Amino acid sequence: MILSKIKEAIICFKNLRVTFPYPLKRNIEALPVEGFRGKLTIDVSKCIGCAGCANVCPSRLIIVTDKKAVRRLDFYLERCTYCGRCADVCPEKAITMTQEFETATNDVHNDMHISAEVYMGTCQRCGRCFETQTILDKMMTVGFRNNQAE
Ligand code: SF4
Ligand code: SF4
Repeated sequence: MILSKIKEAIICFKNLRVTFPYPLKRNIEALPVEGFRGKLTIDVSKCIGCAGCANVCPSRLIIVTDKKAVRRLDFYLERCTYCGRCADVCPEKAITMTQEFETATNDVHNDMHISAEVYMGTCQRCGRCFETQTILDKMMTVGFRNNQAE
């Protein structure tokens, strides 16, 4: 019994420490590799408010609400599984999976919540949002509709 404990102690003293004093000192080699899916981010200037991301999210954490001409997207990322489906389906590549993996926080409501507001075009009859102003501008310039035509 004592002999085995002495052997164990010798092994421990012979081997160097294998852990790092994280987060004060990091193991550079252990940082995420290319293609790693960390906490997502959204570029609101690219978003067209199609809600495709919300439709495919398996965790149902993306909530879409319309208020007059504003479509609001709320991401409650504490439930995110980092599957990347939202980024894959986004037609405008507005969602990016970053390399951020340190998501432990005491303030989950602020640190793990992203909200984005997109200004939409609304239906003249029912008032519902149907397209973003950005897309309407694009349609004007490529000739789908020209309000200025004589
Ligand atoms: S990465 Fe997956 S779980 Fe997270 S918001 Fe996107 S679709 Fe939802
Ligand atoms: S982030 Fe992409 S998929 Fe989601 S509403 Fe905006 S454009 Fe659509």
